Amino acid sequence: MQTKMLINGEVVEGAGEALDVLNPATGEVIGKVNEANDEQIKAAVRGSAEAFETFSATPPAERAAILLQIADVIEANSQELAELESLDVGKPWPSALDDEMPLTIDVFRFFAGAARTMMGSAAGEYVAGHTSMIRRDPIGPVAAIAPWNYPLMMASWKIAAPIAAGCSVVLKPSEITPLSTLRLAELLQDVVPKGVLNVIHGRGPNVGNALMNSPQMEGISVTGSPATGMAAMQAASQQIRHVHLELGGKAPVIVFDDADLEAVAETIRFGSYFNAGQDCAQPCRVMVAENVYDKLVAAIADQVSQIQIGAPKAKGTEMGPLVSAAQRDRVAGFVNRARSSSEIVSGGANGDENGFFYQPTVIANVDNNAEIACNEVFGPVITVSRFSNAEEALKIANNGPYGLASSVWTRDVGRAMQMTSKLRYGFTWVNTHGVATPEMPWAAMKGSGTGSDMSIYALDAYTAIRHVMVAH
Ligand code: NAD
Repeated sequence: MQTKMLINGEVVEGAGEALDVLNPATGEVIGKVNEANDEQIKAAVRGSAEAFETFSATPPAERAAILLQIADVIEANSQELAELESLDVGKPWPSALDDEMPLTIDVFRFFAGAARTMMGSAAGEYVAGHTSMIRRDPIGPVAAIAPWNYPLMMASWKIAAPIAAGCSVVLKPSEITPLSTLRLAELLQDVVPKGVLNVIHGRGPNVGNALMNSPQMEGISVTGSPATGMAAMQAASQQIRHVHLELGGKAPVIVFDDADLEAVAETIRFGSYFNAGQDCAQPCRVMVAENVYDKLVAAIADQVSQIQIGAPKAKGTEMGPLVSAAQRDRVAGFVNRARSSSEIVSGGANGDENGFFYQPTVIANVDNNAEIACNEVFGPVITVSRFSNAEEALKIANNGPYGLASSVWTRDVGRAMQMTSKLRYGFTWVNTHGVATPEMPWAAMKGSGTGSDMSIYALDAYTAIRHVMVAH
């Protein structure tokens, strides 16, 4: 197991406290990884600042070549990286290898192309005798903080776009799931120029906080909870920094009475319980037109009853454990508080197995203002509630603090277009939910963040617009 960090081109053991790494499927400690100490955090920051001086001036084609090489390295080692991911997060083996690895690799390939396609206004004489031109230059070294639900994929989002833009990066993976990112860092030691990519390990409030508050870091990019997003904004407010946030979500699934209900139920089965529901875009807040409510609840219950829960490597496992005991207990707390005012149609208890399992849970007859309907549970739990018309559905969906993913289910194209134009969410799927591609933004509104990951729009976060004017 690779437990060392990548600091300024060197693969080094952390000199700070040793943190346990657990196997969520058994609850056993599988290793220890030392945190970075203060000197190591400073060395990573210094290394990234020094590397920025030269890396920011490399031609896009050179950056593209590095990104393509990273993709090749991940592809060549995808079996090992998926093993680590499955072990560390409890992901079912087919998901870790076949679902997550291709997108992770493709993100680097996409940004290799994107690095060479920066766009802007045409140069010209906007003032007589003066030629103006727009430049888009990299913002500087970026402090990147990643969560535990898709460690390697989130690392790819945090690394690929800034490198494409010409920024150097200090990445801190989640302290509870560092294994795949640390191994990737080791694999990339000779692929990425010294100091351009640094990976340090440690807890958020110590290592993450020190990183975000380092004066040399010019950008702070966080994928994580709203609380960490606020910590990033506070850090940025002390020195005026660029902040890029991709935070929590609470995705409404708005189902009209003309929708294909079987398709909705199947999407719930495969989307809501994927990664044990620990997904910021999880279709979790199902809102149904009154007249098809009973039919859809029955169809969902039937699909969810077929989900096979088990050890990540066991044959047929569709859903594994949650990442930690704390996360499982948090999920159980939400469900327990909802019991008296709603109906638990399926699940609602810990799994029988050792480890941090929780049963796939469907809660019906949920009031649209209930705690469980409005807050991110981040586990294998969905709520089902009713609405009477499109206007009411929009009002309920737009009322909450989040604005990440949403979906609308109807055969009426006009109604779909009206809904998509009025939903205040970074992305809205129609008659599907959860399909992602690097060309399109993983975009956030409201309390879910600022800007987007993936797509050419992600480059906005890592480049500054500049105006150069030449008098002649
Ligand atoms: P988290 O905020 O607890 O942790 C995320 C990262 O932030 C970790 O690396 C952690 O160490 C670090 N961190 C925590 N406190 C910090 C602090 N004070 N200063 C600096 N760093 C700090 O989130 P999590 O529990 O790992 O992940 C789950 C959350 O991430 C959910 O809310 C989920 O919706 C969100 N998420 C969002 C997206 C997206 O694209 N919008 C994708 C995946 C996950």
